[in-house]
Amino acid sequence: MVATILVGMLCAHLLCFSVMFWLISRRLHGKKMGMDFFAMGNLLLGFAYVLQLAEGGPAWSLMSVVNHTFTLASPVAYGLGAMRFFGHSVPLWRPLLAFAVTYGAAQVLVQWSLGPAARYAMLSGMSALLFLVMAITVVYGVRTFAKDLYGEMVFFAALISGICVLNALKFMKILDGGLDALQMDRNFQMVFYIYMSSLATVLPPSIVWLVLRRLTDDLRNLAARDPMTQLLNRRGLTEALQRYFNSSKAVPAHLLMVDVDHFKRINDTYGHQIGDAVLCHVAEVLRTTVRLGDLAGRIGGEEFLVICLDTDILGVMHLAERLRAAIENQAIKIPGSNYPLHCTITIGVSHNFAGAHVLEDAMQEADAALYRGKAAGRNRIELAQVAHGNQLTQGMGTSTTYQTDTVV
Ligand code: GH3
Ligand code: MG
Ligand code: MG
Repeated sequence: MVATILVGMLCAHLLCFSVMFWLISRRLHGKKMGMDFFAMGNLLLGFAYVLQLAEGGPAWSLMSVVNHTFTLASPVAYGLGAMRFFGHSVPLWRPLLAFAVTYGAAQVLVQWSLGPAARYAMLSGMSALLFLVMAITVVYGVRTFAKDLYGEMVFFAALISGICVLNALKFMKILDGGLDALQMDRNFQMVFYIYMSSLATVLPPSIVWLVLRRLTDDLRNLAARDPMTQLLNRRGLTEALQRYFNSSKAVPAHLLMVDVDHFKRINDTYGHQIGDAVLCHVAEVLRTTVRLGDLAGRIGGEEFLVICLDTDILGVMHLAERLRAAIENQAIKIPGSNYPLHCTITIGVSHNFAGAHVLEDAMQEADAALYRGKAAGRNRIELAQVAHGNQLTQGMGTSTTYQTDTVV
């Protein structure tokens, strides 16, 4: 009786959250994050338990075959939903239908050749196997594709492992004691359904939490990045710098102010669209040339910032030269034209600074150096001059310049 009530509650939970997942997926429009698949998984499992209640006990009927198929198809839908959540565009209906037809046929075959207990054992064994694969994938995800969701993934792995173990135990009990092991008033069945209804209470809000986290992360990312180049914007740079200087390992940083030379000419000659392509090209070179951990951002039209963390001035000047040379030497392919475009940049380098609160001062210092680089002919690197009384500077007054002809 208690187990039957538990299964009833389980159905109610699964079906309610199926509707909730479906409603959320409708609100998410283009990027549903697998919520529609999770809704289907819940619906299938909910209906499977409704059929189980209607059946009353182990039986050989169409209802039972459908019940078993739905029970096993639900983890398949959850798995596909999880793939969707992590950005893989997998289909739902075809794999589900293929699975349903195959498993339906397998049930008929096993029932006729090995008997009813074997069919029920197959359900538990297959469930254990599917949830084992899921738990292993989640553990793998903690180290690879879901590093940012460490706590959540460990939590899911623990819960899924529980279902796996219970199904494996059920499998062995059926092999041992036949269909008797499935009597609803057995202690094991009670534990099984208490665990399943606890999961039905805990898992759906956890999935909603995951979606909420992704959405807020996306929003934060949107606010911190330049939409055209995907580099950090001023806000993103400031936040990243604050995080860096808050860590105990932080050492003073250097700032490179990068400005594309004669960019207005590029716009005027080739049009704004090509101008945008040039900006994206410069952004890509910055992204791929800076060291891992350094920060690259776009702070204005054709102005970029690179913040070198944990490097001395020599390393910074080498990086600046690598950037300058890479931009000068790499041709930018223009769609519809046989002649690649070249551009150059001028870089102003600040002295080291030790805190996000002095970012503005460091920018001014690098900007002044950049201005001198422009006046001296462009396509150069200019180190900030010593300014007495300026807390940012460290007494390095050498000015390093490199010059080649600017080609536009
Ligand atoms: P300098 O060598 O002294 O830096 O000269 P410049 O022509 O690069 O600099 P200037 O400040 O005169 O011109 C910058 C131009 O960049 C003006 C503006 O129309 C253009 N610009 C600003 N934002 C964008 C953008 O997002 N896309 C495109 N295509 N052009 C932009
Ligand atoms: Mg410019
Ligand atoms: Mg400029």
